[in-house]
Order: sequence, then C-alpha cells, then structure tokens
Amino acid sequence: MSKLLCTCGNTIRDNTSSLPYKAAFLKDVDCEPFSDWFVGEIQSYVTAVEQGEVHRWLLDRGYSEEYIALGLDHGNLLHDHIHGQFIALRRTAYECTACGRLHMETAKDNSFVTYTPGSAGKKGVFATKSEE
Ligand SMILES: [Zn+2]
Repeated sequence: MSKLLCTCGNTIRDNTSSLPYKAAFLKDVDCEPFSDWFVGEIQSYVTAVEQGEVHRWLLDRGYSEEYIALGLDHGNLLHDHIHGQFIALRRTAYECTACGRLHMETAKDNSFVTYTPGSAGKKGVFATKSEE
C-alpha cells in the first residue's frame, strides 16, 4: 500500500519504513502458532547447520536453487524465512496524523475498517516512546 485516504480528507502515505503512524500486528489467534513455528524452525535450522544439511533444509521449505546460490549467511537466510512467515500473517494499521482515526486492515489484504477516537486529533498510538 502506498497511500490511504482518511475520512477526514488527509492522505496517509506509506512510502518508507519505520513510520510512527503505522503498525504491523498479529491477531491473538496467530501469536502462539507463530511463536511455536518460530521456535521449531530455529531449532530445525540449527540442527541442519550442525549436520551440514542447510541446502536440504532450504529445498524442503520451497526455496529455489537460484535463491540458495545467492549464498546468504545464516542471519539473512533466517531473516528471509521468518520475515516471510510474519508477512503472511500480519495485518497493518495506520493512525491518521490529522484526526487520529485508526484504519485496521481486515482479513482481505488492503481492505481497512476505520475507528474514530473518542476525541479528535492525533494520539500517537503507534509512535515509539521517544516520539510521543
Ligand atoms: Zn483523518
């Protein structure tokens, strides 16, 4: 998504990373399965490294020979693997920086429902502590 038009008329732009008005979240029903999957995959990967079976581990998970030939280090391989699963499960939310409305992604990608705060104005609900 690159931009979302808020009910108030403000355009919410998503064209860079670390936006203080954007959040990625997991539904509660996905948190424990994701955590279990994460721990299982890390353990499986460590075992594959110990046994010299990283190539097989990657093939078993659907990675192509072309991807494997990139020769990524362990950290980058695990990043890609874990991040891919997270992206498949996550949903996105935006806070309008003008009126404070929350736009929450639904089960349908790039479809949002809007919630209006009890009082108007930006609340900074997705900002880091230093940005509040
Ligand atoms: Zn707005």
